[in-house]
Amino acid sequence: MCIACFSQTTHQTIAAGLGKQTSSSAMEALIDKPGPIEIETIASADWVANLSGLINLKDPKAVQAGLKDREEPIQIYMHLLRHPTEGFYMIDTGVSKRFVRDPKSLGVGWAVRNFAKLDKMQVRVEPLSAVRSKGVPLQGILMTHLHLDHISGMPDIQRDIPFYTGLGEANGKKFENVFVQGMENRFFEGRPAIRELQFTKDPDGKFEGVIDVFGDESLFTILTPGHTAGHISFVARTPEGPVLVTGDACHTRWGWEHGVEPGTFTYDRESERKSLFALKALSERHPNMVVRLGHQP
Ligand SMILES: [Zn+2]
Repeated sequence: MCIACFSQTTHQTIAAGLGKQTSSSAMEALIDKPGPIEIETIASADWVANLSGLINLKDPKAVQAGLKDREEPIQIYMHLLRHPTEGFYMIDTGVSKRFVRDPKSLGVGWAVRNFAKLDKMQVRVEPLSAVRSKGVPLQGILMTHLHLDHISGMPDIQRDIPFYTGLGEANGKKFENVFVQGMENRFFEGRPAIRELQFTKDPDGKFEGVIDVFGDESLFTILTPGHTAGHISFVARTPEGPVLVTGDACHTRWGWEHGVEPGTFTYDRESERKSLFALKALSERHPNMVVRLGHQP
């Protein structure tokens, strides 16, 4: 127990009414078959982050490659997801222009503005216009996790839209959350309780848990903790084949190709490594799967 530690937000959480427990074997028996989900990944903003945060530079593979800390160009994504009957969902929120232009007015404190290099964030496509362009109501936001750069589109999202996270995501405690808790609470103020997907252990032992999101085997979410306490990834069955959205289980292309987990932006390194290796093994078993990483193409 971490006494001087804070949760990401103290906003109320409830059990999500969405999702059905399944297993990795049931998911994997199906994912190479075409499915009905349309998924559009949009780079909402360009940004930079320290490589030491994005990749564990102490990993022997990073040492051997001579990787040194520096600013690395990255992107912030939002994924627009269409299901034929369940409607329009988003994975993560992208970045709203207001968040970059006037973070102070949204309760983003000085420490966060500086640490997160918000002055180097440049919005390309704001969530508001992306959502409007679909011309259909947004049903919900599926959050890989609740870090700043994933909720930064929230000012553009209507107050009544439900947010879904992995189990324990909001309440995972870490000292650094002292800097973000007030801001996150403000972002969630006046919004419905955060709906936590109720994972149980994958009976096949490959993952920490697998949920069939809509109960029709079209979209799966996998519990991939480590980067945060309740981090989740997604596998969507599209007409062209499976698409894996790793979220920040892996930030960078180098990290994915070399199997090196994120660096200092980590909640628990041991489980983060396990989650990354489990996703890599999944993609090796399904070579046709398109992989969309946390912050790089
Ligand atoms: Zn991130």
